[in-house]
Amino acid sequence: MGKRVLITGGAGFIGSNLARDLISKGCYVICLDNMSTGRMENIEDLLDNDSFAFIRHDVRKPFRVSADEIYHLACPASPAEYQKKPVDTLKTCFLGSLNALDLAYKTGARVLLAGTSETYGDPLVHPQPEDYRGNTSSTGPRACYDEGKRASEALFFDHGRQYGTDICVVRIFNTYGPNMSPNDGRVIPNFVTQALSGDDITVYGNGTQTRSFCYITDLLAGLEAAMARKDFRGPVNLGNPSEMTVKDLAHLVIRLTGSSSKIVYRDLPADDPSRRRPDISLAERELGWAPVVGAEDGLGMTIEYYRKQIENDQQ
Ligand code: UDP
Repeated sequence: MGKRVLITGGAGFIGSNLARDLISKGCYVICLDNMSTGRMENIEDLLDNDSFAFIRHDVRKPFRVSADEIYHLACPASPAEYQKKPVDTLKTCFLGSLNALDLAYKTGARVLLAGTSETYGDPLVHPQPEDYRGNTSSTGPRACYDEGKRASEALFFDHGRQYGTDICVVRIFNTYGPNMSPNDGRVIPNFVTQALSGDDITVYGNGTQTRSFCYITDLLAGLEAAMARKDFRGPVNLGNPSEMTVKDLAHLVIRLTGSSSKIVYRDLPADDPSRRRPDISLAERELGWAPVVGAEDGLGMTIEYYRKQIENDQQ
């Protein structure tokens, strides 16, 4: 008998890819999602699978599901999405985490939190190691997510200390790949769909800000390695340390798509971090994990995904 795995946010970008991967490895996967940013098309092909169950539920309300492992991913993660209803985002971060932890405590499941590189805010230390405490704003427009996820982390560690709950916290850096909504608002879906449609590529600010992009299959391997490493609580960074400017990303997408789109410059959103790159030495040491998919390969597969999405929309 394979493991029973609960994925909160299982219809989202990471959750749906994780569900498919765990099923292929013999697990029974229960996907819980309120479909606020999750998409039915991400899990449609799994609905008839005997190793998959879907429960429509909002993690802000308690839930009871028996599972050996819980991946707690449920939360809007795109700045455009999480800022639409910031109070809801904060409630999802806190109440959703509390409900996942209470379930893990009651059932003895191991529970992993999808934490975030946003915990480091606009970092003053570069690259970011896990012991860097961050430079976040508790009053700005990103606070609902940054500070919300910081509260989730605090709750995870306190639940572990106070009740002995089997917890693990990973901090996920920018990740991309199939199943991220074309309308998600994040930079890779925006640039790729703009390039494929021949629209202007919208670089925010002057494009010198940096990010480090991890392909989804690499991230999944990191998540599963962290879950499998018993008694390891983290926090541990999961991301690809190869860093690039947003402007270089725009040029790379134009080249790989063969697009004739032009780059245009738009206002930089408030509190947009100026640089971000994970120090992954802890993940390498403790989990034996490092990403293996390079930007050109990962973007190539992602471009194909969005090309098909655009074709489907046109039919
Ligand atoms: N960005 C951009 N154009 C877009 C979308 C995003 O230049 O159409 C920039 C954004 O300002 C940020 C970076 O790309 O500096 C990554 O943004 P994203 O929303 O993907 O995620 P973040 O890392 O900010 O959470």
